[in-house]
Amino acid sequence: MTPVKVVEKIAEMRSLRRGLGEPVGFVPTMGYLHEGHLSLVRGARAESRSVVASIFVNPTQFGPREDFASYPCDTERDLALLAEEAVDVVFMPSAAEMYPERFGVYVDGGKVTERLEGACRPGHFRGVTTVVAKLFNIVRPTRAYFGQKDAQQAVVIKKMVADLNMDMEVVTLPTVREPDGLAMSSRNTYLNPAERRAALVLYQALRLAQRLWLEGEKDAGCLRREMIALIQREPLASIDYISVAETETLDELDKVKPPALVSLAVRIGRTRLIDNIVL
Ligand code: AMP
Repeated sequence: MTPVKVVEKIAEMRSLRRGLGEPVGFVPTMGYLHEGHLSLVRGARAESRSVVASIFVNPTQFGPREDFASYPCDTERDLALLAEEAVDVVFMPSAAEMYPERFGVYVDGGKVTERLEGACRPGHFRGVTTVVAKLFNIVRPTRAYFGQKDAQQAVVIKKMVADLNMDMEVVTLPTVREPDGLAMSSRNTYLNPAERRAALVLYQALRLAQRLWLEGEKDAGCLRREMIALIQREPLASIDYISVAETETLDELDKVKPPALVSLAVRIGRTRLIDNIVL
């Protein structure tokens, strides 16, 4: 297998970009890749002449008490996986390259960034929109691919692209799960065996909400209460939020009207996991 082209400097990425065949598909990641990331790469590969992936653990989207310093990393493995998927370029800048000393302009994602993840992780989306805007300006993709796993992130990025008139498309692809239903996440590696079993409670709660809704339950409050009750029976789990919301504004719903985003953030031991389904 020919090794994938790795670029660390913005100037080099820009100059390589000029030679890439259109359309260019782009998959931004924080590395420690799993099948969820690879499904995005395959989605990009299927409809692009050229595929660029990025690996950048973005410091500005982590809170002071979050896992930036311990975020898992295996660059050699990541690059081998991306080579297998025939990615053309991997952009892997340093933090100093992305945030030089006098850096000072941030993108504010507005109201949709204030709820759910934004409410629990102040400043998180400001870091996400800022780094993604920078990556979009550097890579200038035709289409960028994001996972439904981070549903609010996809909503925020789509709105940023629309509101700031970025000349590109944002594609969202389905959440890839382990055989038992746990959504794949780089952070699953933090879980010990007991926590790994307990982590199933996220998907079980989502499935419960889906079943109740399919059986005719329209009261969003009832769905939230049933999910909370189920999760509270798991001693290793503690709830950050449970939400049944409109899919674009992320306004909480009283009555479930499809499409509705059922999402949750739950701590399993010290690991914070998120998941969602759309009704
Ligand atoms: P991350 O490396 O966690 O920043 O994720 C990079 C991209 O992969 C984001 O668009 C995520 O939504 C997406 N992603 C992460 N986990 C999954 C998954 N289980 N299924 C689909 N996409 C995912």
